[in-house]
Amino acid sequence: MQREAGLNAKGYSEKDEKRILDALGRGLLREFPNPDRAGCPGSAVLKRIASHEMPLAEAEKWLDHLTSCSPCYRDFSQLQVAYQHRRTRAFLAIAASILIAACLAGWALFLRHNEPLRTQTALLDLRNRSIPRGTELNPSEEPLEIARNVSHLEIYLPLGSSDGDYGIRISGPEGKVLFVTRGIAKMQQGITSLAADVNLSSARPGLYILQLQKADSGWTSYPLRVR
Ligand SMILES: [Zn+2]
Repeated sequence: MQREAGLNAKGYSEKDEKRILDALGRGLLREFPNPDRAGCPGSAVLKRIASHEMPLAEAEKWLDHLTSCSPCYRDFSQLQVAYQHRRTRAFLAIAASILIAACLAGWALFLRHNEPLRTQTALLDLRNRSIPRGTELNPSEEPLEIARNVSHLEIYLPLGSSDGDYGIRISGPEGKVLFVTRGIAKMQQGITSLAADVNLSSARPGLYILQLQKADSGWTSYPLRVR
């Protein structure tokens, strides 16, 4: 007769089974007093059986005793509960450390992934530089400096520069163009400033040339050190 879900082959549920085992256990705890502990294996053996350290073949010879000696059965039950708690704690500790490691890895990935998105602005001040003629560099001129991770340039153009559309170019000493973009220069409070996003992540540290071009004029060049 089907009474509830979870019936096993013998016709009673796991709940029934647990009730029977509990009743047997209560019986075992009372029915076999052994005040002299005659034939008891000792707590070291009980502990090894409870924590599954002893192979079953070796533990077999004690099983009859454990089910016919109330003090041993009581000790064994307590050791088994303690072992289950330790195992649960160890499992939770491992699960927690895996979770923490996963969180840290995720966070590191997030930081690395978002690094290029953080805007690093460099200000290049050319106001006191003369407007050079042609692409020739003045060898005595102090190089401008920017870091490799700079993603945005704010360029103060030489005094007297006009506003409007500019071409911006960064090239290597041997003339290889590393980066090209355009920007709009605006005049504000006497400063003509030109802004542009750049990407120098592939550049090696060293000396480069920053070149600017207004409309149809020629390129003007400034030494630029990328750190
Ligand atoms: Zn015993």
